Amino acid sequence: MPAPATEVDDLRLDIARACRILAHEGLAAGVLGHVSVRIGEDRILMRCRGPREQGLLFTTPDDVRELPLSATATATDGYSPPNELPLHTEVLRHRPAVTAVVHAHPPAVVAAGLAGVELRPVLGAFNIPATRLAADGIPTYPRGVLIRTAALAEEMLAAMGDRPVCLLRAHGIVTTGESVAQAIARALQIDELARMCLDVARCGGKPADIPAEDLAELPDLGGAFNDGLTWTHHLARLRHAGADVQQ
Ligand SMILES: [Zn+2]
Repeated sequence: MPAPATEVDDLRLDIARACRILAHEGLAAGVLGHVSVRIGEDRILMRCRGPREQGLLFTTPDDVRELPLSATATATDGYSPPNELPLHTEVLRHRPAVTAVVHAHPPAVVAAGLAGVELRPVLGAFNIPATRLAADGIPTYPRGVLIRTAALAEEMLAAMGDRPVCLLRAHGIVTTGESVAQAIARALQIDELARMCLDVARCGGKPADIPAEDLAELPDLGGAFNDGLTWTHHLARLRHAGADVQQ
């Protein structure tokens, strides 16, 4: 069932804000990075590049275009889907439970990968969702290529396995979610884990994983806290910085 028009407009706004959050938090400085959402059996919303392109921090709902899931990266209405459109469409095609896909280039994650610093469950209660993600495994796609074909996206999906996130060596990250908020929260969690692991590595530290009994003691704070409150907080940060979408 296709999403009603008002819901599509709300999702356009969500995607624009998600792109601004990625840029504002340093996960997608400049013009690279994108967010997509499934809105029907064969329809998606995709952050494209339009005639007034100024980078992710300045994304507007107009930059978010509706495309068929089978779309190729050719321009329509003056807006071009990103070259890495197949990264989004193949994830959405192969993962029916996924609603939203985020792709960004967080420098800390890329640096950690190149430095051989693994993202392990070392943090504990400092960041419980990040610890849980790492405990269940954060896979890496080992090629630093632009994922601009279905074949490369399928290769990336094979590396991703059944996990909701994947690191792309020398490139960035892919995160998925049942909502834009969840996919964004996962991107922020991975970024925070990478920043911390890099800081520790710079100090010469080689932290052990937290003990299994401590991991078992960490509560699942739930989606309303992990995703909903993270989203609300980052929207407030955008507003405070004068960087929210003008309506
Ligand atoms: Zn990329």
